[in-house]
Amino acid sequence: TNSEFYRDTWIEVDLDAISYNISQLSEQLHKDTVIMAVVKANAYGHGYLEVAETALESGAEWLAVAFLDEALFLRKHGFTAPILVLGATRPEDAGIAAQHGIRLTVFSAAWMKAARGFLDHETLNIHLKIDTGMGRLGFTEKNDLMEAERLASDYTQLQIEGAFTHFATADEPDRAYADQQHERFMEYLNVLNHEPKMIHASNSAGAFLRDNTAFNAVRFGVSMYGLVPSGDIRSEMPVRLNPALSLFTKIVQVKKLKQGGKVSYGATYTAGQDEWIATLPIGYADGWIRQMQGFEVIAGGQRAEIVGRVCMDQCMIRLPFEMKEGTTVILVGSEGEDRILLDDIAAHNGTIHYESACLLAARVPRIYR
Ligand code: PLP
Repeated sequence: TNSEFYRDTWIEVDLDAISYNISQLSEQLHKDTVIMAVVKANAYGHGYLEVAETALESGAEWLAVAFLDEALFLRKHGFTAPILVLGATRPEDAGIAAQHGIRLTVFSAAWMKAARGFLDHETLNIHLKIDTGMGRLGFTEKNDLMEAERLASDYTQLQIEGAFTHFATADEPDRAYADQQHERFMEYLNVLNHEPKMIHASNSAGAFLRDNTAFNAVRFGVSMYGLVPSGDIRSEMPVRLNPALSLFTKIVQVKKLKQGGKVSYGATYTAGQDEWIATLPIGYADGWIRQMQGFEVIAGGQRAEIVGRVCMDQCMIRLPFEMKEGTTVILVGSEGEDRILLDDIAAHNGTIHYESACLLAARVPRIYR
């Protein structure tokens, strides 16, 4: 799977870790509960195809993505497993989805009326999304939901295969709000005359921490990649996860900067003494954003701070002593006792590891092992 590349910056994805994380989840679930591997956004930056393949070999039976384009990309590359599009799709594109056996999320009866004109012979399987408190996408009125069921019974090209909701606070220690959402979900399901075949609510946090026995599928995203959904529930997680992603680069130039010398755009960094400065071939166009300035990476086993502004394709670090050009630098990953997690990058940037992972650009080569 590894293609050639000519740049000393790369992501390593440990597919065994993904497989392990799925098996850890499987052991927590009822054996009939379907695992949907959430591979949207280039599999959270890890790579659509390799992750999807690994997930399906490791116990996941479904794939889930955000957009129809992502589902079509997977189909184009030979994936025949059921795929659910979690986000909104234009009613005009219902026919394309149906032709490829792609399941769409439906959030209003009006959508179904609009979509009917775009379906000919193929059946479109739909999952009714119920907004129980996320305030994002989904039915908010029981009447509308009942109308949707009526429309589906009138129009056989639209098949209600599933119903689902999404928790806003599954990754918080306080369960009250998610419990309320769970209850509301049950109330909504109760207005349907026929219970859809697939009922699902939990993301990673919900899958590990909530009782899913009332449902028969979970949507497993961030923890499949070995990330704990949020630091607040780390101690409650019933399993240990293995982070799958590491990010490496190599020093391309080492120079001695005299005291008072400057580094990068704006000449905002001034060497306080004679210093060893190394240039790394990674920058904000790789998702190694400008806020990474001040972050410490591991160069030749030593901590080294990013100094001066991060450029589009390069950034500079201050070394504790002279190192050879070609020295490997760990940006995410571990060496000996020292370890940099995506969580550390997120904390530095005032964001969450989900975002830090997704930001890693397609330009960065991925190696799978
Ligand atoms: N379900 C829906 C509707 C989502 O939007 C997402 C991702 O944000 C997931 C499931 C997967 O969540 P997580 O990555 O927290 O497991």
